[in-house]
Amino acid sequence: ATGSSGALIATAEAHSAHNYHPLPVVIASAQDAWMTDIEGNRYLDMLAGYSALNFGHRNPRLIEAAKAQLDRVTLTSRAFHHDRFAEFCARLAELCGMDTVLPMNTGAEAVETAVKTARKWGYQVKGVPEGQAKIVVASGNFHGRTTTIVSFSTDEEARADFGPYTPGFEIVPYGDLPAMEAAVDQNTVAVLLEPIQGEAGVLVPPPGYLPAVRELTRNTGTLFIADEIQSGLGRTGATFACEHEGVVPDMYVLGKALGGGVVPVSAVVSRHDVLGVYRPGEHGSTFGGNPLACAVALEVIDMLATGELQQRAKELGEHLHHELGLLPAGTVSEVRGRGLWAGVDIDPSLGTGREISERLMAHGVLVKDTHGSTIRIAPPLTIAKEDLDWGLAQLRTVLAG
Ligand code: PLP
Repeated sequence: ATGSSGALIATAEAHSAHNYHPLPVVIASAQDAWMTDIEGNRYLDMLAGYSALNFGHRNPRLIEAAKAQLDRVTLTSRAFHHDRFAEFCARLAELCGMDTVLPMNTGAEAVETAVKTARKWGYQVKGVPEGQAKIVVASGNFHGRTTTIVSFSTDEEARADFGPYTPGFEIVPYGDLPAMEAAVDQNTVAVLLEPIQGEAGVLVPPPGYLPAVRELTRNTGTLFIADEIQSGLGRTGATFACEHEGVVPDMYVLGKALGGGVVPVSAVVSRHDVLGVYRPGEHGSTFGGNPLACAVALEVIDMLATGELQQRAKELGEHLHHELGLLPAGTVSEVRGRGLWAGVDIDPSLGTGREISERLMAHGVLVKDTHGSTIRIAPPLTIAKEDLDWGLAQLRTVLAG
């Protein structure tokens, strides 16, 4: 980066922890699928805040809902009731086909909440002996960054030097049903899975895997927790990625798009017989379920309730995957995904995922690499088809060298 971008990046480098390696662009404003940097260059956003921006930047309905709420009340803490909470919980439960909601803020907090809930449920309802609760997770998972969550990560970058690690997790290969069957025992309180693994490179499990895990968990009295933080809320062309396989989990873990890219909102959504294990004082969050969060999330829920965005993600997604399938042999080795979500493995001879991302940036398209030579494509679900086509044309240009 040059000019004032360069100066801001240098200052950020000097004064912030280097826990990220951002592309060298400094965004100053954004609208729908487009972002503008401080020099006035425009970029098509094909990452959408890791799916937090499913409805585009500054979606007018979400901004309106936030502004209206800013003029009323923003935070009460859960010490008191507020007038947006009831509707938020009821409507979110309805969207999920469940009945009970526990709101938090970030994805990792919601995953922590799911883990705590499953353990408490295991001891109180399933009758697991004290201290013996086990949760089975998949290799390649990404569920967040807390000490407990990185304890069951298989990514050394995410895990190394953060021990001692939280016990109580068993890791099995993602998509491997016999391994899952062998791991689930009488002390297993839950299986925790991403129905499509996002950070791993948009990995879709083999057909039939999720329904088989559902049957296994049902038959063994084990909770099936679906982390739909990245896959859920429209991204795959359905409200939930589980739907494509006809699977209804016991618990959804939601985040990212639930706050519309405006405020952090996450939640665990389940049934009363599961979330009903909590008594006052046993879990919580100062900001969880705050009025501003509820107001924005209610608008998100309204937008998803009609199914239009899911349909749009499905149709545009078919187009995206058709186009990606036409990329010349020798440029990409594999394309995976569902709906408006793709993991594209770039042929290593053309460069790393990082290098491809930087070249795309020079062509006005922002994406981010994941794991070596994979780039992830996940534009806002509101992206215009012409803009998507323009972005894909830039990808073809970059891959052509
Ligand atoms: N779970 C999944 C599937 C995710 O993709 C992410 C974030 O990328 C998280 C959990 C963690 O969410 P957060 O970064 O809001 O803590």
